[in-house]
Amino acid sequence: MIPAAFDYYRPKDMGEVIALLQEHGDDARVMAGGHSLIPMMKLRMADVPHLIDLQGIKDLDTIDINGSEITLGAMVTQHDLIGHDVLAAAAPILREAALQIADPQVRYMGTIGGNVANGDPGNDMPGVMQCLDAQINLIGPDGTRTVAARDYYEAAYMTDRADDEVLASVSLSAPTGGYAYEKQKRKIGDYATAAAAVQITKSDGKIASASIAMTNLSDVPVWSEAAGNALVGSACDGAALDAAVAAMLGDIDPSEDNRGPVAFKRHVAGVILKRAISRAWDRA
Ligand code: FAD
Repeated sequence: MIPAAFDYYRPKDMGEVIALLQEHGDDARVMAGGHSLIPMMKLRMADVPHLIDLQGIKDLDTIDINGSEITLGAMVTQHDLIGHDVLAAAAPILREAALQIADPQVRYMGTIGGNVANGDPGNDMPGVMQCLDAQINLIGPDGTRTVAARDYYEAAYMTDRADDEVLASVSLSAPTGGYAYEKQKRKIGDYATAAAAVQITKSDGKIASASIAMTNLSDVPVWSEAAGNALVGSACDGAALDAAVAAMLGDIDPSEDNRGPVAFKRHVAGVILKRAISRAWDRA
């Protein structure tokens, strides 16, 4: 389909972006890679009379690694993430997750900022960012502010970001221990039926800490503190895996759609979480 008519802007600095957002309010949206927004506009599911392209803004596409502190500029693409060897060494779950997003064509254009800002429950990076306890850096008319990824998502397509704010970057501490991003999808290029992001640290043969987040199993990504806690102190045996899955199932709230009924999604969530925990444990 053809989208409704819109005015296109390509500002050169962030001040101009914020001024346009203030001027047009709800009628304006920023565009990063356009691989979620343009399809929504073509399907007439998003009406955007004023489209503000971020491609002309300098310095939003840098990956900065300073000791254990990592900052990903909003316009860093999934392709950039995958190709950055120093980043992959510092936070390997990012490469593992990015490789499971869509296909190479989409990953060349789709950005980390767009994926995290979008608020689509099917996006993979929000759960990863919750697992890593990342911080989301926003810039608006009153300057910058930071929100924890675990507090950012309010409902499907609803986030803590105000209409006149732009996601500038995501920052996180390099994780330690074992990791895994496990995703079940119907076919290559599909969004998750269920996905799990897991980080585990080990001490004296036992799990010392565990962070678990689930994708596309609620209208927001779900960081399941209870599931992580269920693993701590165990040697990742069957009983601990069952306890983590039971805790996670208490936190998710999937709905039926063309990926399957609720019972199937809950079953798949348990299967992929066990796989993810086991792989993270093996790597820890
Ligand atoms: P855009 O489409 O440009 O923007 C998306 C939304 O975020 C818009 O509302 C926009 O206003 C807002 N936005 C963008 N950047 C900012 C910013 N810096 N500050 C504030 N708001 C911003 N994604 C997955 O995670 N997993 C998948 O498996 C997957 N499969 C896909 C398959 C196909 C065929 C396609 C077309 C897309 C798929 N995607 C998938 C989505 C893809 O990863 C998108 O590119 C990504 O989600 C959005 O990034 P973008 O840069 O394209 O954002």
